[in-house]
Amino acid sequence: MLVVEGLFKRFGGFTAVNNVSFKVDQGEILGLIGPNGSGKSTIFNMLSGTFPPTAGSIKFEGVELGGLPPHRIINRGIGRTFQIPRPFRRLSIFENAALAGYYGQGSHSRAKAEAAAERALSAVGLPTDRKASVDGLGAAGLKKLELAKALATEPKLLLADESLGGLDEHEMDQAADMLRRIRDELGITIIWVEHIMGVLMRVVDRVMVLDHGEKISEGLPTEVVNDPRVIEVYLGTDAHATQAVAEAARR
Ligand code: ADP
Ligand code: MG
Repeated sequence: MLVVEGLFKRFGGFTAVNNVSFKVDQGEILGLIGPNGSGKSTIFNMLSGTFPPTAGSIKFEGVELGGLPPHRIINRGIGRTFQIPRPFRRLSIFENAALAGYYGQGSHSRAKAEAAAERALSAVGLPTDRKASVDGLGAAGLKKLELAKALATEPKLLLADESLGGLDEHEMDQAADMLRRIRDELGITIIWVEHIMGVLMRVVDRVMVLDHGEKISEGLPTEVVNDPRVIEVYLGTDAHATQAVAEAARR
């Protein structure tokens, strides 16, 4: 479904993404992990058209997307969430989702956008009435709305960026199960970027690990957690992640 080859992003003299290649098969959940600043969001920004790659190719269903603007990429069927939710505060939950629906793959009709919003809100368990306010949403609710906005564009491929930050353990498990259900029930392929490794490992089919903009490991979760390069990167940088590696390895 997605074939990325030789992807680079430089900001001035700094190389944030360094010659990264990978593939995503239709129907799979690919986990993308790595320490803070390793280039995860930068890869999503290039896949979703937030900014163009410095070099490299991004082919989605055989068509080159590198450098296209965001709305064209959404039209082709790639939706994304942002690490930091920023809904329109003066619009209702429903209106936020419906607005995203206008940018989906199909027509720009109001009826279709609203129908897509209703399906998306139901899928994530948020109220579908027209008036419910964004103000009542806590961290978990805002993450759900972020997901609903992406789903309202009716993507074939969903890019989910650090959906678990700021959630407690129970909410994290729920969010992970939700991504699994989105794949299983809606048939949406997913790339899931996450800093917190433990929960992700339970849900993904395959994992890719970044460090300083480079791909350092890729494989099944059980292979990746035992890869000495991955252990080295996570040890000492993040106590939370180190613990998650140990836990994941025990399972
Ligand atoms: P991650 O999502 O893995 O935590 P990012 O992809 O956000 O990491 O960032 C990778 C590196 O690129 C970081 O060092 C970050 O400071 C830098 N970076 C990201 N976006 C920009 C930008 N727009 N301009 C300059 N530097 C950036
Ligand atoms: Mg990030």
